Amino acid sequence: MKEIRVRFAPSPTGPLHIGGVRTALYNYLFARKHHGKFLLRIEDTDQTRFVPGAEEYIIESLKWCGIQFDEGVHIGGPYAPYRQSDRKELYHQYALQLLNNGTAYYAFDTPEELEALRKDSESRKETFQYGPLTRKGLKNSLVLSGEDVEALLQSGEHYVIRVKIPENETIVVQDLIRGRVSVESMLLDDKVLYKSDGMPTYHLANVVDDYLMKISHVIRGEEWLPSAPLHVLLYRYFGWEADMPEFAHLPLLLKPDGNGKLSKRDGDRLGFPVFPLRWTDPKSGEVSSGYRESGYLPEAFINMLALLGWNPGTEQEVFSIEELIQAFSIERVGKSGSKFDPEKAKWFNHHYMSGLDDREVSILLGNILKEREIEVSPDFLLSVSAIIKDRAVLIPDLWEQSHYFFVAPVSWDEKVIQKFWKPETPALLQKLSEILANTEDFTVENIDTVVKTYINDNGLGMGQIMNTLRLALVGGSFGPGVSAMISLLGKNETLNRIDKAIANLGS
Ligand code: GLU
Repeated sequence: MKEIRVRFAPSPTGPLHIGGVRTALYNYLFARKHHGKFLLRIEDTDQTRFVPGAEEYIIESLKWCGIQFDEGVHIGGPYAPYRQSDRKELYHQYALQLLNNGTAYYAFDTPEELEALRKDSESRKETFQYGPLTRKGLKNSLVLSGEDVEALLQSGEHYVIRVKIPENETIVVQDLIRGRVSVESMLLDDKVLYKSDGMPTYHLANVVDDYLMKISHVIRGEEWLPSAPLHVLLYRYFGWEADMPEFAHLPLLLKPDGNGKLSKRDGDRLGFPVFPLRWTDPKSGEVSSGYRESGYLPEAFINMLALLGWNPGTEQEVFSIEELIQAFSIERVGKSGSKFDPEKAKWFNHHYMSGLDDREVSILLGNILKEREIEVSPDFLLSVSAIIKDRAVLIPDLWEQSHYFFVAPVSWDEKVIQKFWKPETPALLQKLSEILANTEDFTVENIDTVVKTYINDNGLGMGQIMNTLRLALVGGSFGPGVSAMISLLGKNETLNRIDKAIANLGS
């Protein structure tokens, strides 16, 4: 059987959208499942759309996601170079091959002439196409004499090489997801393949590289389906039909309400990231949020993305990357677009967060503390991580759920004060503080007994003490069990916090 070789071939025109990450992911899963190879090729032939930093961003994003390559622009490989601008010299001979066998031709129409034709068509509510119906009346090597063409080329006149779309033919693309897709050739235009500045266009470079890099399957977004008939045609024109890859065009990622393609603006508007990592636009300085910086775990992000377009055919939702590799198949990728659901993304993250062990949580929380220049002992960090880990949906929530362990309160919630802080509270807390001062065993169980005994012995209400004690410890009505907190904070810190609350809130 033919070796499975797939590629992710982004253009470095900006940050990688999560739809692009999903394309990379499906290629990766497919390659791994079939013990094939996966490569990263950068398609940067359109220099006008080049954005500095985009290539690095793509590589870093995929690395964060855990999507690994066997070959590529960043790691090399047997078919290097993997950046099309570095392969520039190679494409000319292929353009010449098509010119020589009559499936492509030189066109000398100036941009102004073409613009005038477009305007003219528009005024008649038509769309101008450089193609089978119009090319005979235009300035190209199909109508000019051989000498004229030669003279124009010699004079250094700007030219392009266009593909010659056949007349009156039904072109068929076999798609692994959509089945047979056909298009009438008269509806296609003679796309530019090569320009006199020495650069191929996307279509030529893409097909030539897929062929040279022995790509077996082209798995890419639906937006490329309209280009597929031309690509099929190019394989035929080159005589490479036997080596033509199979095609699979993935459905779109839709807005949460299902109305149209998920765009960058939706993320800004609805408050969720549409990019894997934060991106700062080099021109405008505009910042777009990323999943990594918002506190998602890459495993959760990948699990969520995998299910946007593919389904395992079972009820299972949680998949490790290894399980995804086992379960994935192109046949189970749907035809229709998948609605992006930001709440589901959070659900996955919460699920993965609560599955982390205490040590893993302590590393995440430790990073937050480092940023805040807070130093604590590893044991204390580990114990705090253990109690709060189920409460965090996103990584920054670890701080929201634990800051009071590291920073004593400097203000106390007015509502709790109004409700529970009575004139007798300071004396009651003072008494309890003295008992705690004489307690040696600070295990949760013992603290629980000590506090409850004090409440019972003095005929006090449970709520009366617990709520004010909690207020003194954390400054509000949140946090885990009071005894657990006292046990963790230890004697000194607990007594200090009670003192401080009494001093500040008084009677
Ligand atoms: N360079 C194209 C892109 O930016 C690749 C399309 C394809 O995979 O053929 O998505």
